[in-house]
Amino acid sequence: TDELGIALANLTDSATGVLTPTLRLGVTGLSRAGKTIFITALVHNLLTQGRLPGFGPLAEGRFIGARLAEYPDATIPRFAYEQHLAALTGQPAVWPESTRRISQLRIVLKYQSAKWWSGLSGPATLNLDIVDYPGEWLLDLPLLGKSFSEWSGEALERARQPGHAQEAEGFLTELESTDPLKSANDPDAERLAAAFTFYLRRSREHGALSTLPPGRFLLPGDLEGSPALTFAPLPRPAQPIRGTSLYAMLENRFEAYKAQIVRPFFRDHFARLDRQVVLVDTLRALNTGAVAVADLETALTAVLACFRQGDANPLLRPFSRRIDRILFAATKADHVHHKSHDRLEAILNRLVGNAAKRARFAGAATRSLAIAAIRATNEGTIREAGESLPTLIGTPIAGEKLDGTVYDGKTEIALFPGDLPERPDSLFEDGTPVALNFLRFTPPQKLESNADGEPVLPHIRFDRALDYLIGDRMA
Ligand code: GDP
Repeated sequence: TDELGIALANLTDSATGVLTPTLRLGVTGLSRAGKTIFITALVHNLLTQGRLPGFGPLAEGRFIGARLAEYPDATIPRFAYEQHLAALTGQPAVWPESTRRISQLRIVLKYQSAKWWSGLSGPATLNLDIVDYPGEWLLDLPLLGKSFSEWSGEALERARQPGHAQEAEGFLTELESTDPLKSANDPDAERLAAAFTFYLRRSREHGALSTLPPGRFLLPGDLEGSPALTFAPLPRPAQPIRGTSLYAMLENRFEAYKAQIVRPFFRDHFARLDRQVVLVDTLRALNTGAVAVADLETALTAVLACFRQGDANPLLRPFSRRIDRILFAATKADHVHHKSHDRLEAILNRLVGNAAKRARFAGAATRSLAIAAIRATNEGTIREAGESLPTLIGTPIAGEKLDGTVYDGKTEIALFPGDLPERPDSLFEDGTPVALNFLRFTPPQKLESNADGEPVLPHIRFDRALDYLIGDRMA
């Protein structure tokens, strides 16, 4: 059959005709969690055999090399690795543009199998397919089980809660002046959708409700403005609903969103992943305060519900395929001193604890790590009142502010970042925010080069992340 043909084409290296195993690695996380940086660093480290003492195949001298290859699915945008690396290694070095949509990249890894030393087999190849997608899109899975009237009911109830009144005001006003039973027309649909999207965006900016579906309204990818994204929740009228009404029009669009956007994403992309890394900007939430931490926890629980697979999740059952490992990574660990790295891991563990338990129950192994895919700071100490304080040394991005100082993006400073609490429980129980001095830094401006003249990207625990995600598949 056709389907079998495609499956075989995916497995076969067209040059050699030999069957090559493929590992499909999903990289996700909410907006600005660090997906783009993670993938760029991952690819660069593999292509140039970066400084990765904790990555088994390299440490054991069995890693032969890597190259980028054509991705088998020509309809999916390619991850813009070269542009991203150019930004990071330019003069001055800047952070590249973030993930806005799904993209993919294939990297072919060549290694000596550990078994080769005993004469069992020769050099081996692994195709590593990296799939980058916004975590916001995972928020849509529950929609598959809801009708338009159920979803509308929940969304409107939330918008009317006192805590959301300010953000939702504009949308609710539009809604009041619209009769759902009037004749279907595009200007009304567009007006309502725009007001609803504005409400979702504002809620996210205020940090209180990053968890609201539909996920594509926050990150539309290439679908911006398409009819399937031009709907909004409507109260269900008590009178009979005619097929030509505005209500019926938006209901149809909601169904189209589910059938033509949400379902294909889960079926064609998500359900085909073998492994997954979920990136979490834990530090930013900690730094914002207890509400942001609680919100992040809710968002992660919603996102991670998708990893409850197979029988445990009826919505995913039709697409079932098993993810066997999930790595939870707290990103940007270079914003705290190394003494806090274990504490950051402990906090992340608490945040994802329930979801991880469920994932393990469904047969996936999980691990939590605090990492920096690209380390933008060094460590030092300053003496203050006879005490020596651990500091971070880095260049704050232009416009960053702390204690009345506005930075110009060129000045290197030493910063006492503050410590994370020793026990994560204290953080979650008494709700006291962690007093961190948190500044965004520019990427490292001076990079060392390896023997081939390739830049070496400094990192924190990135080798361990890599080892967990692919090391065993290169054994
Ligand atoms: P995403 O693609 O939306 O998930 O996020 P990005 O990968 O673009 O990261 C968003 C921003 O976070 C970047 O522009 C950087 O400022 C920062 N960032 C991401 N990873 C790191 C890291 O490893 N270290 C530091 N210092 N900052 C990072």
